[in-house]
Amino acid sequence: IVRIEHLNKTFTDTPVLRDVNLDVWNGEIVVVLGPSGSGKSTMLRCINLLETPTAGHILIDDEEITGSKKTDVVKLRRNLGMVFQQFNLFPHLTALENVMIGQTKVLKKGKEEARAEALKQLDRVGLADRADFKPPQLSGGQQQRVAIARAVAMHPQILLFDEPTSALDPELVRGVLNVMRDLALNSGMTMIVVTHEMGFARDVADRVVFMEDGVVVEQGRPGDVFDHPQHERTREFLGSIS
Ligand code: ATP
Ligand code: MG
Repeated sequence: IVRIEHLNKTFTDTPVLRDVNLDVWNGEIVVVLGPSGSGKSTMLRCINLLETPTAGHILIDDEEITGSKKTDVVKLRRNLGMVFQQFNLFPHLTALENVMIGQTKVLKKGKEEARAEALKQLDRVGLADRADFKPPQLSGGQQQRVAIARAVAMHPQILLFDEPTSALDPELVRGVLNVMRDLALNSGMTMIVVTHEMGFARDVADRVVFMEDGVVVEQGRPGDVFDHPQHERTREFLGSIS
């Protein structure tokens, strides 16, 4: 469903992604690991065209998205949800309104339909009773769950997560991971997740991808990569974080 071919990204002479090739299948859960600065966020940002690749191609459902027109970007973004480290909610809107606004503005749904869907998704992330709270009245973990509900309410084919738990206090991480686990196991959505949560990667990922210095060093099933890393750099990285 996502095909990344020879992706390169250079910021003013600094290569950040160097010939990245990656295929993600429909419904697959891919966890991307790697040290800080290895290009993980840049890769996700290229997939949803927040960054323009310097070279290479990205295809979604066999359609090239790189180098496409503005109208296609709008269409693409409907198909792609993204959850950021900093939740990026509208602070002056309630949780419910945050989950409704993309549906009404982008999908042009009616208010009642959008509200019903928003309530359903807030319930799914365990926040039905917080629908009328604004982000400053919610914990970080609750805000992140609202952000996930907002992304899921758009029913994208593909959900991208960029370190969704790394801004959270440790006791709030589990609730967010549980929501992500439920989505991974029960929603059928394709998910690409950048995270340092190894337990999540091991339990939930179909595949883990280890990046360093803008290169995919190694990928495979979590059991294989974690228990039998093939590359010295993967071993060092796993050793440094566990
Ligand atoms: P982290 O784990 O810290 O989030 P990352 O793997 O997500 O790291 P990226 O954010 O993709 O890494 O950054 C990779 C490199 O690209 C870094 O060296 C960063 O400084 C550089 N970089 C990212 N965005 C820009 C930009 N807009 N302009 C210049 N350099 C950038
Ligand atoms: Mg990053």
